[in-house]
Amino acid sequence: MLDADYFRRWMTATAASVDREAQRLTELDSPIGDADHGKNMQRGFTAVVAALEKEAPDTPGAILMLAGRQLISTVGGASGPLYGTLLRRTGKALGDAAEVSEEQFADALRTGVDAVMTLGGAAPGDKTMIDALVPAVDALPDSFTAARAAAEEGAVATTPLLARKGRASYLGERSIGHQDPGATSSALMVAALVEAADE
Ligand code: ADP
Ligand code: MG
Ligand code: MG
Repeated sequence: MLDADYFRRWMTATAASVDREAQRLTELDSPIGDADHGKNMQRGFTAVVAALEKEAPDTPGAILMLAGRQLISTVGGASGPLYGTLLRRTGKALGDAAEVSEEQFADALRTGVDAVMTLGGAAPGDKTMIDALVPAVDALPDSFTAARAAAEEGAVATTPLLARKGRASYLGERSIGHQDPGATSSALMVAALVEAADE
């Protein structure tokens, strides 16, 4: 079972990993974007950690909904509303249970990923965060480490793709040959699920 502390650790581990990798995320966002993805993610997850400390929500659902609201209100870029929707909708699907099973979490995360696809209109293969998130959800609930590997592979596999959504799509064919920054940050979020379990 996964309790509130697990989800708190997921968010703090994501924030730490985003801090460590901020420069790389921004570098990936340079050739096919506007070189702000690292900064956007740092601003968002710093606000998430601060809000979780201040408001101390005590259920998995409330933690993820608060985190999602923070991302929506603090991140100006496309990734803010998209990641915000991911966490808010995942949290909402978890309801007010004090603990959730791995199966319940996997189902809720799929609901969240579906909401991101509805909001942003991206499908797998469009060279977005969806290319890391969908393979990760497909690997759950059996193995969080398999989900981490699937998300990382999905992020790497965006390199040869033509971007069909977001800023990178303005480049057309010139978007080919670069790894998508949002798929890369999604892989960090999924890796943080494993870190949160190890702590
Ligand atoms: P912005 O492009 O507004 O500067 P960011 O740089 O923070 O925002 O985030 C860019 C990332 O957001 C992209 O790499 C991509 O993964 C993701 N993204 C952009 N548009 C969409 C969309 N419509 N659906 C899913 N993901 C998207
Ligand atoms: Mg950007
Ligand atoms: Mg931007």
